[in-house]
Amino acid sequence: MPTNTLKDPTNPELNELGNTKINRMILMRFTLFLLLLTALLVALSLPIYSEYETGLKEQLLAQEEVSVVSAKQMIQKEMYEQLHLLDMIVESNPLKNYLDETDSKQNKQLLEAMLKNISASFHRYDQIRVLDNSGQEKVRVNLIDGKAVTVAEEFLQDKSASYYFKAAKKIHIGQIYVSAMDLNVEQGKIVEPYQPTLRFTTPLEDSQGKPKGMLVINYSAKGMLEQFRDIMTQRVDQQGMLLDSQGYWLSNHERSNEWGFDLGKPEHKFASFYPNAWPKVKESKSGTFETDKGVFRYVSIEPLNFKDYQPAHFRIEHQPLIAESAFINTNWKMVIFIPKELINSYSFLYQPLGRALSLLLILLLPAIAFLSAYFSVQRKINKIKDQQLVALLTHRANFDALTGINNRRAFFELGEKELKQAHRQAIPLVALMADADHFKKVNDTYGHAVGDLVLKDLAKTLTNTLRDVDICGRIGGEEFAVLLPHTPEEEALEVAERLREALAARKVPLPDGNTLSFTVSVGLALLTTEDQHLDKLMQKADLALYQAKEQGRNRVVVYQETPAVEEST
Ligand code: GH3
Ligand code: MG
Ligand code: MG
Repeated sequence: MPTNTLKDPTNPELNELGNTKINRMILMRFTLFLLLLTALLVALSLPIYSEYETGLKEQLLAQEEVSVVSAKQMIQKEMYEQLHLLDMIVESNPLKNYLDETDSKQNKQLLEAMLKNISASFHRYDQIRVLDNSGQEKVRVNLIDGKAVTVAEEFLQDKSASYYFKAAKKIHIGQIYVSAMDLNVEQGKIVEPYQPTLRFTTPLEDSQGKPKGMLVINYSAKGMLEQFRDIMTQRVDQQGMLLDSQGYWLSNHERSNEWGFDLGKPEHKFASFYPNAWPKVKESKSGTFETDKGVFRYVSIEPLNFKDYQPAHFRIEHQPLIAESAFINTNWKMVIFIPKELINSYSFLYQPLGRALSLLLILLLPAIAFLSAYFSVQRKINKIKDQQLVALLTHRANFDALTGINNRRAFFELGEKELKQAHRQAIPLVALMADADHFKKVNDTYGHAVGDLVLKDLAKTLTNTLRDVDICGRIGGEEFAVLLPHTPEEEALEVAERLREALAARKVPLPDGNTLSFTVSVGLALLTTEDQHLDKLMQKADLALYQAKEQGRNRVVVYQETPAVEEST
């Protein structure tokens, strides 16, 4: 069957465009678009949201500054007050008189009376004592159940082994030593309820400048820590911590974590809970750090360091001289925490409008992806349909509607090319012109419809009999033309004969069950150098055909310049 015809009009892509395929195309594009859109959305919104979240954290931290500052000032003020009291006692006449005349019973009683007054009215000094140079208690006032009591001589103890005695021994007159905060111990046991205590100590001398032991005040920090917790409970998450210089909790919202060192639970310290954060907290004066649970803000509280802060309503003539070790003992850190849930709850995305908008966006993405997929597939279908229309027109322009083979126009277009090639390569080319015999009669006898059936059968037999390289076409009502490239005259004649016989042997099945036979006459012409165009060659074939008709039909006649010779009957 010849394939040397014009383009096949049927677009396989379009033919396959069933609904299932269209739906599959839409689904695939939808998936692709949805993935792309989601990736785009994530890529765009992640950095924006993280910046927004950072802003939120900063805003929340700024709000926390009120608590940070008030807690810090409260502690500093409290500590300053104790230094002030110590100074006041040192400068008081009852103490000065006692130090000048320690043996005087009256001096001792006057001193005790003053210390009892102080103890009873301030309610935060568990013990106020005067030790002599050897560390022996000389005067002692205890606060027991809110009552100030003088300790009798026989119960006074030797405190030369105590750390605060040793520490205060090393400092000069006028200097103040402050211990670390710890739980008060009596007779080797921690006193319960716990008594967080700080010891303020300063060396004493008489009016002659002779060393006269030291003054020791046990300050109960319970009230200060309660105030600290009060301030913390006013915070958003009601939590806050106060750490000592070792990272043990002096105050913690989880009360069971407090006093890890004193209670022999060394793992109850900040460093064990937040090992990564502790070095930073310990080293720097303030900052923030973040865990997966939330944001931490820490601030140094150095209550004896008055360079930064001096309570306005306390003015001592001279700056208190603080012993170096006292600074280290009271190098505390305050840590507040903003839980992640709290930060989130402030986030726009957690507000009703934010939730609604994000939901809308999440719903919108598939909608956009679907619409894009749908319309892009529609566009593609339209493009294919356009191509199909063009293909259909091309087909109509080139193929005969009845038989489906090349029409006259297409035959001449293809044939002209073939002719040019034959001339160029000097290869033989033969034209056949075939015409159904007495076809008018067929129509007249059997009707036009049967005539059409015969023509279709004729065309089909023609294409089935010819080679792929041959070109055939219907060029008139019952006229068909054939070009046989690469075919010498004798061979062409055989082909034409075979064709004629094949057609004559056809029994065209009719609708009524009968069959119909028909014959054709064929004119044959060989291309010569003078045939520069196909119509010239076809004219020759036509002339030969005319002769075939003349000679009785159902035969092949070869064109000759001189009178034609009958070749076959
Ligand atoms: P001849 O052997 O001399 O060729 O006789 P003929 O009857 O075939 O010649 P003529 O040219 O007189 O008639 C051709 C007929 O072919 C006339 C026309 O009705 C018929 N015909 C042409 N095209 C078609 C067609 O498409 N369908 C049918 N059924 N008949 C056609
Ligand atoms: Mg005819
Ligand atoms: Mg005719």
